[in-house]
Amino acid sequence: MTKRLWIETVGCQMNVLDSELVVAALRRQGWELAHTTAEADAVFYNTCSVRQHAEDKIYSALGRIRLEKQQRPGLVVGVLGCMAQKDQELVRKRAPWVDLVVGPGQLHRVPGLVDDVLAGGGPRLEVSLDRTGGSRQAIAQSFESYDPDRDPQMRPTPFQAFVRTQTGCDKFCAFCVVPHVRGPEQARAPATIVAEARKLVAEGCREITLIGQTVNSYRWSDGGKTTRLADLLVLLDAIDGLDRIKFVTNYPRDMTDDLIAAVRDLPKVSHYLHVPAQHGSDAVLTRMKRGYSIGEYMEMLGRLREAIPHAAVTSDFIVGFCGETDAEFQTTLDLVRTADFKNSFIFKYSPRPGTKAFDRQPDDVPETVKKERNQALLEAQAEVSLAGNLRFIGTRQQVLVEGLSVRDERRQAKSAAPSAEQAKSAADENTLAPEATTPETLAQLTGRTMCDRIVVFDAPLRLIGRLVDVDIQAAGAWSLAGDVADGLAKAIPIEHLFSEDGSSPPPALHDIDLKTVAGGSLAPSRPSGPNQADSLPGA
Ligand code: SAH
Repeated sequence: MTKRLWIETVGCQMNVLDSELVVAALRRQGWELAHTTAEADAVFYNTCSVRQHAEDKIYSALGRIRLEKQQRPGLVVGVLGCMAQKDQELVRKRAPWVDLVVGPGQLHRVPGLVDDVLAGGGPRLEVSLDRTGGSRQAIAQSFESYDPDRDPQMRPTPFQAFVRTQTGCDKFCAFCVVPHVRGPEQARAPATIVAEARKLVAEGCREITLIGQTVNSYRWSDGGKTTRLADLLVLLDAIDGLDRIKFVTNYPRDMTDDLIAAVRDLPKVSHYLHVPAQHGSDAVLTRMKRGYSIGEYMEMLGRLREAIPHAAVTSDFIVGFCGETDAEFQTTLDLVRTADFKNSFIFKYSPRPGTKAFDRQPDDVPETVKKERNQALLEAQAEVSLAGNLRFIGTRQQVLVEGLSVRDERRQAKSAAPSAEQAKSAADENTLAPEATTPETLAQLTGRTMCDRIVVFDAPLRLIGRLVDVDIQAAGAWSLAGDVADGLAKAIPIEHLFSEDGSSPPPALHDIDLKTVAGGSLAPSRPSGPNQADSLPGA
């Protein structure tokens, strides 16, 4: 009988991709996705350790699933990913009903391990070596990267995919747990990356986002030839049928001139660069062990803006890092006010066991102060983001249409209408989905410009997955709104299509749901799949 899997993914794009790969592997063994935990034979949590909050959420979810497991003792409960690697035995100490604990470097073993558990073999723990647990080679080998077939059903959308350029991280920023839980940096071969991209494009993918912890540190040497990220972009740009290429996350010091030139000159590469500054003060950057001064960051930003004046640059910031004074925080605030970031992801410092800051620097900024600073920085960034977006009013932007806006997705959930994927497949197959949704049905759709700005607009569902020109007419801090320029959308009488009962008028165009991006625009705006991802900070 078919077994059913329910998987919840938290954390970054790496985790979204890992979940896609795990699901693909299990589906090849006959598993299907469950829509609720109640109908699942196995419940997996693909976890994040970057901040305490992400771990707390998983431990509370484990508390809830315990009750279901009491009803159905055969239910397999798995904790995958970074928290599994970080907490190891501790996971089962805190939640003894967990059957599987599998680190990010051991995910290829999941199908076999589930079979073992189902066969009555008892709980299993599979993790990689600690960063001090052996030679670099031995540690690297214990973080195995596997490249199984992809599974379109688990992607952000059917026409967008993440492609990994490298696993792990060697930067060891003082606050960050990633190098400890994801192991040493290991690049994938350019030929493997290009072959995977070609395959995705053949399956209908139009946009690829390359992901690595510090993606622009990519380096592959083979037979005397070294391939860097700029070279990789040249290879990918040449793939027929691919429309857009993005890459995250960039490390400021590795933003070299050849990479900037590649972004400027290659037509498919998005003019969007996520280059986290983390802080505005040299003293704090030193305590964070970031390896650059704010002067060097600004010099990099200057080079970037000189080459690509309209490039959208985004950043991450940590507030309340160990010892952060008011004056030091002010430097971050000043940076946000002047650097014209498209948006910033702002995090309150969360001490992580195993990191240098945890061991050597007290977490001495009170929570209330962290909150105030977080709020002040968010407000400053919102003003800057709004000013940046207002510049787009009156322009025409090319948009890759991703699906329903958050507002219409909620509306659909309420009326049990089909999902964007179902509507898309209805459009592809030219068949009628339930609830009389047709490819011509008008909805509020969302997509992104070449510079990664979110745009909402009213248009028929058949435009999902296509590139369309949109005339921008309104702007909020986190998104733009407009009209499809080619008249396709206007061919449909808007009034009766928008109202659920035929009585309410269509919403105003500028009635945008700002939550579309607040808190996570790096991530796909609408994580899809029956039970995928919530908060998604930078990879
Ligand atoms: N390798 C990626 C990021 C990893 S985590 C990069 O270099 O950008 C994503 C973001 O979370 C980081 O950029 C940082 O701003 C934030 N972060 C990481 N560790 C944190 C911690 N201990 N507390 C609060 N925020 C943290």
